[in-house]
Amino acid sequence: MSRRLYVFGTGHAMVTRLYNSCFALEEDGRFFLLDAGGGSGILQAAAAMGVPWDAVRFLFLTHTHTDHLLGGVWAVRAVGSRMCSGQYLGEFTVWGHHALIDAFRTVCRAVLSPGICALLDRRILLQPVEDGAQRSVLSGTAVFFDTGCTQVCQFGCAVRFPDGQRLAYLGDEPIHPQVRPLLSGCGYLIAEALCLESERQIHRPEASFHSSVKETCERAEALGVRHLILCHTEDTHGPARRALYTAEGGRWFSGTLLVPDDREIVPLA
Ligand SMILES: [Zn+2]
Ligand SMILES: [Zn+2]
Repeated sequence: MSRRLYVFGTGHAMVTRLYNSCFALEEDGRFFLLDAGGGSGILQAAAAMGVPWDAVRFLFLTHTHTDHLLGGVWAVRAVGSRMCSGQYLGEFTVWGHHALIDAFRTVCRAVLSPGICALLDRRILLQPVEDGAQRSVLSGTAVFFDTGCTQVCQFGCAVRFPDGQRLAYLGDEPIHPQVRPLLSGCGYLIAEALCLESERQIHRPEASFHSSVKETCERAEALGVRHLILCHTEDTHGPARRALYTAEGGRWFSGTLLVPDDREIVPLA
């Protein structure tokens, strides 16, 4: 099985030169979206990267913040309009914790067309998951878990495939002690890093309950993560971001450190 990570966006909420953090895990032409970013930029990313909406089968939303959830409404619109025209066959599943799914259903009902709303909970399945719930996704199994966020209920997910490959996603929450067992030895971890440690006086990651590159790299190193993908960053460095973040993070993380640009495809080894 070949798997790749399509990087739709890597920015935090208020960036203007990146799309918000949003990924699509691809396996043999089918896609599992990890968060949706904050708006219709998800449509541009999907089009630019050649991702057909009829191949997007699953969406997981971590929490109810603008920059993670509202792009999901556009994803439902894209999928729903194709269902209405007969281009999308079968079901589209959206997972999130209970309060999130309730809120997401309310927003969808308020802003989407009657034709698409009629598909909600019929073919567009809005499914709440409990802490520790397991669901089949692509050829693997996703475990959903509470990340321990104290500001808003936030879930992460860890996907395990039959060949043993593991990928985990934490939304925009730092690595808390209670999730370490789920992440230990993980092949791929997608984690937030708002800014360089050397620039924490400028961006103040602690003020928004986020981490520096150094902090996230140290935590991932302690867990034996093999590939660390940093996202949810500030956007002041433009094309130099990758080199700057890699240089700082490489001092604290001995695995493969990835700082992808928006619309990059990361092959999963
Ligand atoms: Zn957030
Ligand atoms: Zn965020």
